Amino acid sequence: MKTNIIIPRDYGLFVKGDYGRRFFVSPTRHAIGKLMLESSAQIRERVSRKARRETTSPVRLRKLLYDGIKKREGTDNLVKVHTRNRINGVELYDRVYHAKLRAKSDEEIYYETQLSNPRINDNGGFGYRHSRCDCKDSYWGEVKSTEVFCSHLAAFEIALFEDERGNKSSNENLTGLTKSRLQRYPSMPFDLRKNYDLVTDMLFDFYVEGFTMAQINKKYLDDIELLSDALCNGLKDRKDTVQFGVLRQKEREIKPILAQDTQEYYGAIRQLENRLRGMLLEREFKFDGYGYEFKGHGSELVAKRYRNGFEVISIGVNPYTPPLIIRKHLGEKVSLGNSDEPFQGINIPYLSVDDNTRRKALTKVIIPGESDESQVFVPRVLKRRYAQWKVSVGV
Ligand SMILES: [Zn+2]
Repeated sequence: MKTNIIIPRDYGLFVKGDYGRRFFVSPTRHAIGKLMLESSAQIRERVSRKARRETTSPVRLRKLLYDGIKKREGTDNLVKVHTRNRINGVELYDRVYHAKLRAKSDEEIYYETQLSNPRINDNGGFGYRHSRCDCKDSYWGEVKSTEVFCSHLAAFEIALFEDERGNKSSNENLTGLTKSRLQRYPSMPFDLRKNYDLVTDMLFDFYVEGFTMAQINKKYLDDIELLSDALCNGLKDRKDTVQFGVLRQKEREIKPILAQDTQEYYGAIRQLENRLRGMLLEREFKFDGYGYEFKGHGSELVAKRYRNGFEVISIGVNPYTPPLIIRKHLGEKVSLGNSDEPFQGINIPYLSVDDNTRRKALTKVIIPGESDESQVFVPRVLKRRYAQWKVSVGV
């Protein structure tokens, strides 16, 4: 049975492309892509630097990383197989690069990967034209209009970028392309060179500490040093061509054997959300993806967003909180690195930062059916939960 609770699969940046398509990029996936391209010697150097920073034994750290990779990927091919074999058969057809990328977990499997070159848009922002990988990670890219940059696409992008910037011959570089076949790469989404040590830390967070990509990206993405200048331009532009956001997993499901009142509760949430969605679509709001509300605070929620111009209505629910409506009027962009406020109460307007657009937002949290702005039928089982929840948070 569905609960309408959204589980984040990743947290990162959505880049608007042509024809309403969106490209999702995640620094952790790029860090893994970087690792896929490195030789054993380069990985040893990476680990040694971390050991020096943390005054600990490189041998111990290396073992932790290799064991972690083995556990998470099923094998440690990633650190054993030499670089040059990871990208094969790179070709350029009609401005789209094609390649075969070796799977991290199985050296016999190659994924077909396609990428058109990232570019600076006419408005100075960051953009992609086309990307494709036939791995499962990319395939599960949630909705048809979102293309997820998996670690293979990230590795391919990094290789094309580094070959264009470097001076190695086609025999020595990563893609095997000659300079004339390498189109000029204006930018990547993340500045991996400047953040060499941060990339190592992300890899340890993922493989050794076992954090999810969403947790790792949430931890590092407020550090604007990680973002390339072109991506920052996209984040700052008035059309919000680049936005932060949550890539969703499937909804949390519960077993139908659970108590009758739990079933009734989640059934009521679903009915309520359907009603609210209908009302919003009637008022010409459009679905605008998923995002965090109260990010980084105890009250954090993953919410469905609906947007009409500068009005955003988010509907968020988590295992401890019945569905809340978070209504925002978006204002000017704030400087990157600013973050959201914690939950401040019901029906009290306050100034916050919208996490997705990084705009100032006049924000109000509303309980459905309990204000003039939200006249909607709320089933009794939900009303009871709202009353309990209000007591528990003291509002
Ligand atoms: Zn892939």
